[in-house]
Amino acid sequence: MTIASRRVTPTVAIDRVQVGSCHPVMVQSMTNTDTADVAATVRQVAELARAGSEVVRVTVNTDEAAAAVPLIVDELDRRGLSVPIVGDFHYNGHLLLTRFPACARALAKYRINPGNVGGKRHDEHFRAIIDVALENDKPVRIGVNWGSLDQQLLTQMMDENAAAPDPKPARDVTMEAMVESAVRSAAAAEAAGMGHDRIILSAKVSGVQDLVDVYRMLAVRADYPLHLGLTEAGLGMKGIVASATGLAILLQEGIGDTIRVSLTPAPGGDRAEEVRVAQQILQSLGLRSFLPQVTSCPGCGRTTSTFFQSMAQDIQSHLAARMSEWRTTRPGVAEMKVAVMGCVVNGPGESKHANIGISLPGTFEEPKAPVFVDGRLLKTLKGDRIVAEFLEILEDYVAARYPAAVPVEG
Ligand code: SF4
Repeated sequence: MTIASRRVTPTVAIDRVQVGSCHPVMVQSMTNTDTADVAATVRQVAELARAGSEVVRVTVNTDEAAAAVPLIVDELDRRGLSVPIVGDFHYNGHLLLTRFPACARALAKYRINPGNVGGKRHDEHFRAIIDVALENDKPVRIGVNWGSLDQQLLTQMMDENAAAPDPKPARDVTMEAMVESAVRSAAAAEAAGMGHDRIILSAKVSGVQDLVDVYRMLAVRADYPLHLGLTEAGLGMKGIVASATGLAILLQEGIGDTIRVSLTPAPGGDRAEEVRVAQQILQSLGLRSFLPQVTSCPGCGRTTSTFFQSMAQDIQSHLAARMSEWRTTRPGVAEMKVAVMGCVVNGPGESKHANIGISLPGTFEEPKAPVFVDGRLLKTLKGDRIVAEFLEILEDYVAARYPAAVPVEG
């Protein structure tokens, strides 16, 4: 089965980052610091950017947060981190963006939630945000969320459905209201002067089936680039699996131009985990390459020691550590495939499919580990230095197969 071609969309520029069908699916993330705390927010944006987040969103919810935004952007620039910063606005975005023009200028994009733009004065407040975006030449994301769906629109659609001869389930009407909210808001933004190529849409829900349904509908209704993500994905394994499941179905169908994985971090946990998960989703689908992939078998009764598990982990850690340098010096290395296998059953076969692979001895096998390079047996390792020798072979392979990038003369 092959992945479907991406939907054709306009390209939206978020500073230097291009989003849309002819550009790679972009990875983004969001901070969970108090934006008014400049030092903490800069630190976390830097962590997210270093992990590979191509755009980072920050909450802008108070005067203090709005005042901090230009300081955060300046400090990131000073450190040479030019990641675009997006402002997330709810309830008071129209006020903050007009009262804090430096914030409006510093942000690379504004996220507007049409359900949280101001009740009876919704249209006026929405228009005020669009006017600031136009003055500053900024794109917007119309980000609908089912936890804060426009209640007036939902009530109206529910009433119309109830009066219909064959009413649909309330869940279906809610999904349709989300799409309607996104599409109507985009039309209102364009009517106010926003370019068709300055709008990204999202419609986030927390259930996988709902996510797939709502984005399939949205993809048919409008050609704007789509920001995919399961909102409130959850903690740890649940959040990772649910996000991967939902996003993979849509991406496989060619739907989605930028993704965020909204994991709830464990207390004191690493916020950049959401970036690595997003990258792994895209790499597993063959859409982008971020890190050499290690194929390792699960182990079974044929390999009772934990040696090969720790070897797989050591190799994975070695590759992750080396990527910070290789990313710029060894173009193409992110596509490398490495196999670490536990015994002779599938070890040589899987190793031959990888760029470089090792098949460790199972419990009752001769204590030797054949190493395969580009499908051919290179040598057989024995003794206590198997891991160290394999890493040396790996380093030699990378040096030969992915020659150092030649700096471009300015
Ligand atoms: S490769 Fe060998 S050790 Fe690994 S799962 Fe298969 S049979 Fe078990």
